[in-house]
Amino acid sequence: MPFPLTFIPAQGWHHVPRSFGAPRSKGKRKHAGCDLYAPVGTPVHAVADGKITIHRPFYLGTFATVIDHGDFVVRYGEVQKALAGGLKVGDEVAAGQVIGSVGKLSGLNISMIHFEMFSGTVNGELTTTKSPFFRRADLMDPTAQLDAWAQQPLPT
Ligand SMILES: [Zn+2]
Repeated sequence: MPFPLTFIPAQGWHHVPRSFGAPRSKGKRKHAGCDLYAPVGTPVHAVADGKITIHRPFYLGTFATVIDHGDFVVRYGEVQKALAGGLKVGDEVAAGQVIGSVGKLSGLNISMIHFEMFSGTVNGELTTTKSPFFRRADLMDPTAQLDAWAQQPLPT
């Protein structure tokens, strides 16, 4: 399965503040995903075959696209409102397909895919009131998966 970008971000996703579990809100919350830094407008690629289940406002003016990949669920966060040409919620996508593009976070000079992964073994909203991640109970650490995908041929 492919990495969600056509390049590997120079800053990586292993270190604070980009890493899974990095402190947020002065330590009151832990980062629920990995941040993949990329310029606004960079195409975002599906990491596996799947189906778009949600596309809705997310954070600081950006959107998030949720894809059920069968064995797991990914929330591709901080993307643009516009999905890639013609795509809509309910559509099937193929591994490596462009699904959208990196969004502009209002008031920030950095942009990224905020990449969250869930095992899909639980139903319900992905964002919850449950400390420390404030996410559904099946939240996963995506670091090792991103490492593995980065070793595969990059999408084109
Ligand atoms: Zn993030």
